[in-house]
Amino acid sequence: MRWQDGRESENVEDRRGQGGLGGGGFGGLGGRGGGIRIGPGGLGVGGAIVLLLVSMVLGVDPTVLLGGGEPADRTTADQSTADQSTTGRTRVGEAAPRSQADDELKRFVSVVLADTEDTWQGLFQQMGRQYQDPTLVLFTGTVSSGCGRAQAAMGPFYCPMDRKLYIDLGFYRELRDRFQAPGDFAQAYVIAHEVGHHVQNLLGISDKVQAAQQQARGQAEANALSVRLELQADCFAGIWGNHANRDRRMLEPGDVEEALTAASAIGDDRLQRQARGTVSPDSFTHGSSAQRVRWFRTGMESGRLEACDTFGTDRL
Ligand SMILES: [Zn+2]
Repeated sequence: MRWQDGRESENVEDRRGQGGLGGGGFGGLGGRGGGIRIGPGGLGVGGAIVLLLVSMVLGVDPTVLLGGGEPADRTTADQSTADQSTTGRTRVGEAAPRSQADDELKRFVSVVLADTEDTWQGLFQQMGRQYQDPTLVLFTGTVSSGCGRAQAAMGPFYCPMDRKLYIDLGFYRELRDRFQAPGDFAQAYVIAHEVGHHVQNLLGISDKVQAAQQQARGQAEANALSVRLELQADCFAGIWGNHANRDRRMLEPGDVEEALTAASAIGDDRLQRQARGTVSPDSFTHGSSAQRVRWFRTGMESGRLEACDTFGTDRL
């Protein structure tokens, strides 16, 4: 990917080294999920339970955490995270020393985010609407979000409540080593997918899906809606890829294959098979590997929102 000369976004909040609880204790959250992640894990029902646990442990009012505002009482280390005044900066002497590779990765993430901003600003303008840039939060260990407290192990996610994307750069190592999906465009796809959820949020799609899920008869039906939402986010990621390539010539040979490998590696069927050896489609919330690849490709080839109607098709 040719990204070195790209503009860096100003909407990156660096909270690395401020993780607090350090990722211990609350593992294994399959949950129903909020339908907003790229990989395994969940912030839905599971997230609510964790939030309650965290609240009990820390002795803070859970509604404070849920409301997205920061508690006034900052007696615990992990509550110093969402300080807007430190946005994009790291206070001296606070963070652990970081590798050069991680700082390079931060620059890469900022450039990709900026490119999604350019793409979606243009597309929204064509629709006669105004795109509002999301914020991308980099964190390590655990992070407090407008959707509750989350762990790096849950994978990258988007929180509609505070309109922020949360990414632990360690996920990229996992993508490369555990999921065997290396490459910078694979990493960019992860960001573009979460930005896709932000677009769904701005367009009111997420709200509609959530309302429909509340009416759903049973878990399988709710999951099926989740799958359509996720596949659409993959398609939106493809739309970004289309524009990054067409307007700014960012792609190099092999890049699309990198993203497709990533999309395929984190399909629900592949993840489930790795985890338990069997696959049960009813419990899918993100779509199968083949479906994720297909919808990313659809967005990539068309570059158009109308091509991404995963809700109006019988064939996913
Ligand atoms: Zn997702």
